[in-house]
Amino acid sequence: MILEPIYLATLIYGFGIVLLIGLTALYLNVLTKDGFMAGLLVGVPILVFGGFDNFILLLLFLVLGSFLSRIGKDVKRKYNPIGERVGTRAWPNVVANGFWPMVSSVMIYFNSPPHVKIAWEMFFMGSLASMVADTSATEIGMLSRNMPRLIVKPDSRVEPGKSGGVTLLGTLASILFTAIFAILAYFISGFNPLIEYTLIGFSPLVYMKSSELALLAIVVLAGFLGSFIDSILGATLQAKYKCGVCGKEVEVSIHCGEEARYLGGIRFIDNHMVNFISSFFGGVIAVSLFFLI
Ligand SMILES: [Zn+2]
Repeated sequence: MILEPIYLATLIYGFGIVLLIGLTALYLNVLTKDGFMAGLLVGVPILVFGGFDNFILLLLFLVLGSFLSRIGKDVKRKYNPIGERVGTRAWPNVVANGFWPMVSSVMIYFNSPPHVKIAWEMFFMGSLASMVADTSATEIGMLSRNMPRLIVKPDSRVEPGKSGGVTLLGTLASILFTAIFAILAYFISGFNPLIEYTLIGFSPLVYMKSSELALLAIVVLAGFLGSFIDSILGATLQAKYKCGVCGKEVEVSIHCGEEARYLGGIRFIDNHMVNFISSFFGGVIAVSLFFLI
């Protein structure tokens, strides 16, 4: 295994850039203080090991998420089932979203055989795409005039913003934004090493089948399926509580400043855990599709 050297300068400028962006996010209330700390832990390895391309894609996701969460803020505040400040990320959110992209970035660096590197690059794309799909489905879906249907029981309607609820508007938005993300990822060159690789290829068959369009489709499909898994887990395994103060069914054990009554689901699986798991599956699906097609 031959590793490209990482110079002290790379580490210093990587840390500097992430610090600067993190402080800006803190100032703009996009991150809480602990979210900022978690952002450094996740962001620096992505930039140093995954490179600029991957880091820019992560930023793109964060900017998109923050932008989407600010659309129709008043409507969303009414439904906010988590009780967090709308549009501000705390540390569990940062870790849930950034962990798999961080792991794959480190692995891209430490795995020199080209096909393993490609697999981790696909994993990075899939895990990020799954969060783009989930974020846009949630943020845009909450603005739908129709009450969401429960994904595991389409006949029953649930409150907007509730995990496991899906709307047509949210689903269409998730496909649209994931496709935009995949196209931008292509231009920001996340795919370039993949395409070079398929040109060199194992065999002419690989070259024939892996067109650029297929790669885009894989990323979009992995994102879509990842957010589908997110909804299923949100409807089934995720812990549910009832707040004694406001009377709402919520996703956190403490709501309106008081302990809420446990209704069902697995206690340690909250919304962040669901995102964490589905982002992992988004990555696995992207890798599987890449080697399958
Ligand atoms: Zn409450």
